[in-house]
Amino acid sequence: MLRDAVRSLAEAKIAPYAAAVDEEARFPREALDALTANDLHAVHVPEEYGGAGADALATVIVIEEVARVCASSSLIPAVNKLGSLPVILSGSEALKKKYLAPLAKGDAMFSYCLSEPDAGSDAAGMKTRAVRDGDTWVLNGVKRWITNAGESEYYTVMAVTDPEKRSKGISAFVVEKSDEGVSFGAPEKKLGIKGSPTREVYLDDVRIPADRMIGEEGTGFATAMKTLDHTRITIAAQALGIAQGALDYAKGYVKERKQFGKPIADFQGVQFMLADMAMKIEAARQLTYAAAAKSERGDSDLTFQGAAAKCFASDVAMEVTTDAVQLLGGYGYTRDYPVERMMRDAKITQIYEGTNQVQRIVMARNLP
Ligand SMILES: Cc1cc2nc3c(=O)[nH]c(=O)nc-3n(C[C@H](O)[C@H](O)[C@H](O)COP(=O)(O)OP(=O)(O)OC[C@H]3O[C@@H](n4cnc5c(N)ncnc54)[C@H](O)[C@@H]3O)c2cc1C
Repeated sequence: MLRDAVRSLAEAKIAPYAAAVDEEARFPREALDALTANDLHAVHVPEEYGGAGADALATVIVIEEVARVCASSSLIPAVNKLGSLPVILSGSEALKKKYLAPLAKGDAMFSYCLSEPDAGSDAAGMKTRAVRDGDTWVLNGVKRWITNAGESEYYTVMAVTDPEKRSKGISAFVVEKSDEGVSFGAPEKKLGIKGSPTREVYLDDVRIPADRMIGEEGTGFATAMKTLDHTRITIAAQALGIAQGALDYAKGYVKERKQFGKPIADFQGVQFMLADMAMKIEAARQLTYAAAAKSERGDSDLTFQGAAAKCFASDVAMEVTTDAVQLLGGYGYTRDYPVERMMRDAKITQIYEGTNQVQRIVMARNLP
């Protein structure tokens, strides 16, 4: 029922704008409005904080179905979970009450600020600094590649509180867009997910109350990594949706397109490509849903499974979307058809929330 409901909404209210959002590289406002009106913009927020209380699998299905028509728009529910999960996992009751309710209502979005210009895969090498001053913390630094920066009201920011301790000297904070000293860089000009704003976040003597720290001092990096264990599954869901969208489009196209006097769907070479695409998508789906169940239960092998789902599904998305372009021939290579956008959008799923090389490092360290 959830899938049917999200699919109908996505096809009616999000799909019609997907090409324009990409072409104009603009925020998918129509998608945000449609998702918020239907309580699908941040489904993961627990009911006790005014949210829909969707479990990890339901959240995956929402993201998958939105990504099937518009990957950029799927980053609204996905990044709302990414940004707020540190608060849900490690925040005080007061922080949860204060920040989750506006998120659930649709009054505010949440972003996640871990990466920096010189600290990507090696996120613990970050330089953003938070220094205690009485009842406040003062933050200085630059966060890079921040999804929904400028659109979000709230930002989970990881910053160094003790430079001697490397990852154990990093703490997490909630920073608000309206805090003095917060500003944003120009939107990045990207290959894909062009509707999803990616900007730098500048923290210039940002003074925030001490109770904005998420969890204990020194636990920020652990919280950031624990968050990714859960949210990499949402990237797998996004990859899955993009791949399914490309397969669905190609499936329809091959029945219409005629060469050598018959639909190209009649050629075994084409049929085998479609079979392989569907097979890979289904394998990715099973791995992703199983990982979502592990996320919900907090199973001990979640770290491996989350990385495996993200890595596998994103590789599948890249292969399947590339094959979809192939199946449309020259037409697939043009912006008159949606599959080239899907191919460009798929690429990011192999890069963010840890590149697929990093996923393999994570898997190797946590072999089942
Ligand atoms: C569109 C977009 C949105 C993003 N959104 C966010 C966000 O909202 N919040 C956030 O915090 N970050 C975000 N990111 C950042 C993203 O997570 C990083 O780009 C990613 O982790 C890679 O870091 P990097 O770009 O510095 O690449 P690098 O770390 O410089 O990696 C370059 C290459 O080296 C490889 N490499 C690095 N180390 C190793 C190793 N040990 N072994 C093998 N290979 C290695 C990588 O796999 C990669 O191929 C976003 C990025 C993009 C492009």
